[in-house]
Amino acid sequence: MKETIVASATPAGRGGVSIIRISGRGAKDVGVGLCGNTPKSWSFIPCSIKNKEGVFVDSGLLAFFEAPRSYTGEDVIEVHCHGNPVIVDSIIEAAVSLGARIAEPGEFTKRAFLNDKIDLAQAESVADLIAAKTSSAVVSANSSLVGDFSKLVNKAIDSLVDSRVLVEACLDFSDEDSVALLENKIPSVREGVMEVLGTIESLLKVSLVGAKMREGLRVVVLGPPNSGKSTLINRLAKEDVAIVSQTPGTTRDLLRVDLDLGGLPVEFVDTAGLHDNSNEEIELEGMRRAISIIGSANLVVLMSVVGEDFSPSLADSVKTLRVFNKIDKEDSFVDPGTEEVFISALKGTNLNGFISSVFSNLEIDGGVEVPVLARQRHLSCLEGSKGFLESAVSNIDGGGDLALVAEDLREASLQLGLITRPVTSDDLLGHIFSEFCVGK
Ligand code: GDP
Repeated sequence: MKETIVASATPAGRGGVSIIRISGRGAKDVGVGLCGNTPKSWSFIPCSIKNKEGVFVDSGLLAFFEAPRSYTGEDVIEVHCHGNPVIVDSIIEAAVSLGARIAEPGEFTKRAFLNDKIDLAQAESVADLIAAKTSSAVVSANSSLVGDFSKLVNKAIDSLVDSRVLVEACLDFSDEDSVALLENKIPSVREGVMEVLGTIESLLKVSLVGAKMREGLRVVVLGPPNSGKSTLINRLAKEDVAIVSQTPGTTRDLLRVDLDLGGLPVEFVDTAGLHDNSNEEIELEGMRRAISIIGSANLVVLMSVVGEDFSPSLADSVKTLRVFNKIDKEDSFVDPGTEEVFISALKGTNLNGFISSVFSNLEIDGGVEVPVLARQRHLSCLEGSKGFLESAVSNIDGGGDLALVAEDLREASLQLGLITRPVTSDDLLGHIFSEFCVGK
């Protein structure tokens, strides 16, 4: 990584402070060119910053982080200036004239990964942390960034390596006594593999929740007009985001609201009421849109007033939750304790029951405290590893060839290794880091 790169680390726009980050061998020289001086490592100095013509452009602060104790593992300079895009652009321009080049998206983090400051799962969690939509998602991304997820994966890899060493030792020894001695160890190999299988299964469980937290979920609320769909969403959002009115058919378009539902980012979609007796073109279009979004929903809430039927014909693959609203209108209503949820959106009765039913329908029964905002890539590596371990166990149990067991264990740990430290393929890295913003 010889080239020196520069980018704004803060978003474009006006604000109190913007930070320009410079990383690479020439970072210190660029810092001197911009500000006349650099401080000792891990400290700041006040500075007058010059543009590429050498004219004073702003006063600010300059920080220096000497390699390898920096985010990227290289020399890093940070210039803190006033948050004005004109100032930021002219400082970046000046840095380029001093030999830096504009960084690609995610290039700082990619360098941190390539310089062994963080592993790949940690690098991914930097992007996830920036994109996290709820406070629980922030906690999970941070947990992964500090290495909690990676530690669990790496521990499983270490244990598989130990098991494989033992199995391969059996294969390498040719004299029968030694083989017999080593083969006595196979039950403990099996025990170790079963333990790792248990770890992978629990990692898969939390990763599935983590993936939902990362990607977010969509809940579509369907029901006849006036059943209280907008009122429910308003209640959940604790602010008036949907128009609530007594005239049926008010919600004609789809109204999407991002909610933090107990830590889970959920997009609720309020739809036009579904009914048969409308001739109005706009309302009919609203109903068509409501039907068409169902395919992308993780859950469809079918809502009607208590005592009223609402059974639209939906494909079997659509997951639904039946909700009856306006229980406050019934005299001394008693919840029958069935799978259906009975609420009063207006009074806020049983909203917790509604939320926990949404959670269990979305298969988030164990809560949202997870050590990673998992990606599909992580899930398929965990699944892949699990498959090889299951094959290893059945080969052991069937008294099969130990060479096959060794190969299964090798493949299983390779799959896990892809999560944290893959044998780097430029394609994979390019794909992962292209999702980042410039300056990260
Ligand atoms: P939507 O057409 O399904 O979105 O229904 P709205 O949310 O616009 O509600 C229609 C009417 O029903 C409004 O006057 C609401 O105040 C009222 N409403 C909604 N939920 C309740 C409830 O739980 N109890 C009672 N009594 N009225 C409700």
